[in-house]
Amino acid sequence: YRATVLLLDRAGGKDRQYLLSFRDQTEAHRLERMRSDFIANASHELRTPLASLTGFIETLRGPARRDEAARDNFLEIMQKQAERMARLIDDLLSLSRIEMKAHIAVKDQVDLTTLINHVVDSLRPLADDLGVEIERKIDPDPVIVLGDRDELTQVFQNLVENALKYGQSGKRIVVELKRGDDGIKAMVQDFGPGIPEEHIPRLTERFYRVNLETSRAQKGTGLGLAIVKHILTRHRARLVVRSRVGEGSTFTVVFGPQKA
Ligand code: ADP
Repeated sequence: YRATVLLLDRAGGKDRQYLLSFRDQTEAHRLERMRSDFIANASHELRTPLASLTGFIETLRGPARRDEAARDNFLEIMQKQAERMARLIDDLLSLSRIEMKAHIAVKDQVDLTTLINHVVDSLRPLADDLGVEIERKIDPDPVIVLGDRDELTQVFQNLVENALKYGQSGKRIVVELKRGDDGIKAMVQDFGPGIPEEHIPRLTERFYRVNLETSRAQKGTGLGLAIVKHILTRHRARLVVRSRVGEGSTFTVVFGPQKA
């Protein structure tokens, strides 16, 4: 905040005025701090697979030079690490593209019925691989919102993919779209392990993971929900997370009133 304080000093019979001006820099400092934390985290995340690659290259050029079995094994690990770096870079670029567009109003008439059905169709192979059934509760009529089609596709892709990956033990997920008096809601529900309450407020932070090992095993970058949050902010929509350990999680996107 900024504050200006006028002091009147009546000492000595003469009025003297002092104008004091405070400018609080807490907010600016906080933003600057977030930015540098982000750069530090991103660099660390990229350095980890890079260090692994460098280590394997050294081993392959040295001790494992003539060990064919080891070579195949190492190359496979190296490929996974390179893919991990590529995913991180893709997500970082997505995030920065979305940030650059943050102040541009969304303008496409997007039919959520079609969009969500497409996302579910595109994730069917993953669901089949994991042995998870996707139940749809989506009426056939169009549900139109003002939005950015690619960004909204990314939102539902991330949410459905998370439900499949992290909730796979539940064997079934539900994707629901409904229009009520209080707006349009799109829900993705899983019956997996759920998320302990204390983690829920932090899920949309960049690189935040409830369990680093599980996230890595699921090829996560920790950026998926941060991307979702940024996109939804641009759409004036909200993400509501409900979860109970042992029962599962529901991620709901709530769109505000749409202009006719
Ligand atoms: P990631 O790339 O690791 O999947 P996200 O930002 O998409 O990152 O999610 C952050 C973390 O939230 C995940 O690492 C995971 O621990 C947790 N999470 C997300 N969705 C679910 C879910 N449906 N059930 C349980 N945990 C989840």
